[in-house]
Amino acid sequence: MQQIERVGFIGWRGMVGSVLLDRMRAEDDFTGLTPRFYSTSQVGLPAPDIGVDAPALADAFDIADLAQNQAIVTCQGGAYTKAVLPKLRAAGWDGFWIDAASAKRMDDDSIIILDPVNRHVIDQALQDGVRNYIGGNCTVSLMLMGLGGLFDANLVEWMSTMTYQAASGAGAKAMRELVGQMRDLGQAGSASLDNPASAILELDRTITQTLRSGELDTAAFGAPLAASVLPWIDSEMDDGATREEWKGHVEANKILRTTTEIPVDGLCVRVGAMRCHAQAVTIKLKKDLPLDEIEELLRAANPWVRFVPNDKASTLAGLTPTAASGTLDIPVGRLRKLRMGPDYITAFTVGDQLLWGAAEPLRRMLRILREH
Ligand code: NAP
Repeated sequence: MQQIERVGFIGWRGMVGSVLLDRMRAEDDFTGLTPRFYSTSQVGLPAPDIGVDAPALADAFDIADLAQNQAIVTCQGGAYTKAVLPKLRAAGWDGFWIDAASAKRMDDDSIIILDPVNRHVIDQALQDGVRNYIGGNCTVSLMLMGLGGLFDANLVEWMSTMTYQAASGAGAKAMRELVGQMRDLGQAGSASLDNPASAILELDRTITQTLRSGELDTAAFGAPLAASVLPWIDSEMDDGATREEWKGHVEANKILRTTTEIPVDGLCVRVGAMRCHAQAVTIKLKKDLPLDEIEELLRAANPWVRFVPNDKASTLAGLTPTAASGTLDIPVGRLRKLRMGPDYITAFTVGDQLLWGAAEPLRRMLRILREH
């Protein structure tokens, strides 16, 4: 295959894109590349500092300019993908499109990339001439990174996953909204807090009133997230599921390329975590297996799984968004058998959805292309 050098980057300023650039700098990925940075809003401004020369920002809608690249990495979002990729392909561009957005994930001409889990699918796709390599839904990718060992061993009959998803999953503006709400709540409650003798119900009433006042900024989430939870993420599907919940099943099965579909379903909930998506899973195993064997399978799946013993101190120290944020670690813990029977287990897993859930598979895909 032709050596990949000319690579275009779109969406590098957003949450996922910023993390991607950080990781590429840290791994020295820009060496040997001729990067070109694009923007939908800041054309002509200087390119980001990535340690190698790059020209000023180009127009992210300039098809002829984009077509000069051998590969394009975009973290700009699905609307951009839908607006630009068909025009690029229509203009005859046959470069590699690496994308964080969901727009093309389920298309037949696209592969969902998560190489520690499905490198064989990626290698086959490269041989077959596939040109679109799309990062998976963050929660799905994190679930498969954490629990992939059980799927590899063909042990999962079905899985129910209940998620606890961070504000940053909805982008830069949503993170600001959450922290702004926290500040407003803190200010509203500060008089009661400063007076330890005040009645606790007064503090409770003040916070509840502020949450219901309609005065908090809720533009991103539609309701206050701080001091609350929002059991709805993304749009509505026909069967009562949300789109986020639908993705759990279809994307997990596409990533694993299952021949017989494994049911994956549950509820997706937004919580006031800043970064890192967590999920509690119930798994029906195909057979009864001792917990130490299950633990061994989980540990052995990839180098990033961190198995957390099922005790309070280890859980609070290692199985939280606070512990996982900004790291590539995928802690998995709370593993135990359920009362429903010896082949029913539960576990909890958490991971940084901006790293393994978004930027890292894209960065690694570019590496795979360059080494192919
Ligand atoms: P985002 O933070 O909202 O950034 C997207 C774009 O918004 C930026 O590239 C930038 O484009 C523009 N923008 C406008 N104002 C900005 C500001 N103040 N700061 C930074 N950027 C600003 O979106 P994202 O969360 O990175 O998501 C990008 C795509 O990845 C989406 O399709 C999303 O579904 C997907 N994804 C996200 C996550 C996640 O955890 N966030 C995980 C997996 C996949 P210009 O420079 O062109 O103006």
